[in-house]
Order: sequence, then structure tokens, then C-alpha cells
Amino acid sequence: MPEGYKQMIEAHDLLRKFYHHLLVNTTEGQQALEYLLQRGLTEAVIEKFQIGYALDSWDFVYKFLVKRGFSEEILEKAGLIIPREKDKSYFDRFRNRVMFPITDHQGNTIAFSGRALGDDEPKYLNSPETPIFNKSAILYNFHKARSHIRKKEQVVIFEGFADCISAVRAGVEHSVATMGTALTDQHVQILKRNTDQILLCYDSDSAGLTAAYRASNMLIEQGFQVKVALMPDNLDPDDYIKKYGEKSFNSEVIGASLTYMAFQMHYLRRGKNLNNEGDRIAYIEEVLKRISRLSNAVERDLYLRQLSSEFSLSLDALEDQARQTFITER
Ligand code: ATP
Ligand code: MN
Ligand code: MN
Ligand code: MN
Repeated sequence: MPEGYKQMIEAHDLLRKFYHHLLVNTTEGQQALEYLLQRGLTEAVIEKFQIGYALDSWDFVYKFLVKRGFSEEILEKAGLIIPREKDKSYFDRFRNRVMFPITDHQGNTIAFSGRALGDDEPKYLNSPETPIFNKSAILYNFHKARSHIRKKEQVVIFEGFADCISAVRAGVEHSVATMGTALTDQHVQILKRNTDQILLCYDSDSAGLTAAYRASNMLIEQGFQVKVALMPDNLDPDDYIKKYGEKSFNSEVIGASLTYMAFQMHYLRRGKNLNNEGDRIAYIEEVLKRISRLSNAVERDLYLRQLSSEFSLSLDALEDQARQTFITER
């Protein structure tokens, strides 16, 4: 256990409660509370996810925690205060932001992410990497989601924790989110111990689709069963739920998610003109490459038939080509 571990956790725990109190009980927190309510969050959700508010102050966290006996050194190491260059004084990292506590997989608060109330930059400010917070190994909401993941034999992964929170509220409790990073090997190892089925529910903008494409290929290689959920009009899951409601999210997004192959085909044909011969051949080759990697013979057959009928190609030729591809890829 890293040095000062207990104190760093304790400082985060106290601060989580204080941020939450400021949000729900004080006039200083009123604007932030209105922001959240106007985004569609409810008081129950704010309570459940222990959302809070950091005052518009340079030193309230510093004073609050030093008064309670925490050393400057520990607070700096924990990422909560930042030293000024000129003198030996410190200022608070998070000011005038909606605060989302990040817990480790045991439920201890180990970091925060603060969202600007308006269009201030950066939109989200995260705790830095600290001895207790490793972004690439933490999944938001995993602590609460774990039992649901096991029961459902599936995990749903989001890009943003606003999306994860809305999904949980919509009844999709086996939901987690990455912390603004791509899916890492460390995440994969953690998930593997709990399920082998992953549903990616990333933003349906171009960046989100590319992230889903990369993650899906990495997960397939790791032996997971992968599905991908898509939303219309570049929406993200949170936007979708606000616009179309929770029921529609469950049936039209989660319930209508694409298989790995269907998503690959959808992704690979973006920006291609399949009436153009070169594009068409490139597309068919890419798809065959993926079909050849499928371990399930029935699935392989299904997608080969689909290709054959879409492009009026003989099934025999496609099967041959898929076999060739498989051999050359070995
Ligand atoms: P919101 O709905 O509040 O705008 P979002 O989750 O839709 O948030 P995205 O821009 O889609 O925001 O980003 C997805 C995730 O990436 C965020 O949840 C956050 O973890 C991370 N992120 C976004 N912007 C930043 C930033 N400026 N710095 C660090 N992380 C960020
Ligand atoms: Mn409360
Ligand atoms: Mn988003
Ligand atoms: Mn969003």
C-alpha cells in the first residue's frame, strides 16, 4: 500500500461529503444544483452518485482539510491542492465545478472529476495520477456495477460518466465508464474476471465510432463476445436518453445493438463509395479478413452469405478467399 494511502483516502472521503453538502444544502451550491437539474438529473441520482460542488474559491479545500489535520504534503500528493511557484503557498485544484467522486473498485473515493458549469475549458478537470488513482486501471461505477455485471453476464461500457449515470438511471445497472482514456489492457483484465460479454455504448460521433472500432477489435482478440450500440445523429447516450427517453434507450439502443461483425461492416463502409470498384474490393477484403477470424462456423457462414448476396458474388469464391486470408494471416 502506498505511503499515506489511508490519509489520502480519508481526505477524499471527507471532501466528497463536504462537496455534496455544498451542492444540496447551500446557497453557494444553488447554481450548480440548477445546472444538474436542468440537465435532467434528479435529487435521487445526485445522492446515489454523491455528486457535489466545489466553491469558487482558491483555498477552501486547503483550509478545510488542513484544519482537520491533513499535511500539505499529503494533500498535494493526493492531487487536491497545487503549490504556487512563487512562494510556498497552495491553491485548490477544483474551483467552481460540479464534482463527481471517482471510487476505486472497493468503493473508496480516490479522485474527482469536476465539470465546468458552462462552456469553460477544460470541460472536465480530473484529479492527476496519484499513488491512489491510476486512470487507466479505474472504471467509473465498477464497484456498484460488479454484481449486476455478473448477474447479467455482460458489461456495458461508456465513454463518459454522464452517460453511465443516465444509463444506470434507465435501469442499465451493469454500466461502467472509462475515465477519458481509451480502453486499456488493465481494464480488460479486470473485466475478464467478471464477464466475457461486452457491449460498447460509445458516443455516436466520429471520435466515438473510431474508439468503438479500436476497442471492439482489441476485445475480440482477447476472446470477448463484443456488441456495439449505435445512436442516430451523433448523439451520446446521455443526449439520447434525454431526447428519446429511457424506454427507447433500452429497446432501440441497448436492445438493438449490433454484433461485432455487423458493426465492423457498418464502420468499414463509412466514407467508401461501394459503387466504385476499388472501394468495393477494398471493403470486401477487409470484411473477409474479419470473417476469417471468427471462431464460430455458423457466424462465418452467415456473413459470407450476406456478402455473397449483397455483391452478387459466388459463395464458393468468398469461402476460398476467406480461407486464403486466414492462412496468410497466420
Ligand atoms: P457532457 O455531457 O457533460 O458534455 P460528455 O461525457 O458527453 O460530457 P465528452 O466530450 O463526450 O463529454 O467526453 C467523454 C469523456 O471524456 C468525459 O466523460 C470525460 O471523462 C472525458 N473528457 C472530456 N473532456 C475532457 C477534458 N477536457 N479533460 C479531461 N477529460 C475529458
Ligand atoms: Mn446527501
Ligand atoms: Mn459525450
Ligand atoms: Mn454528453
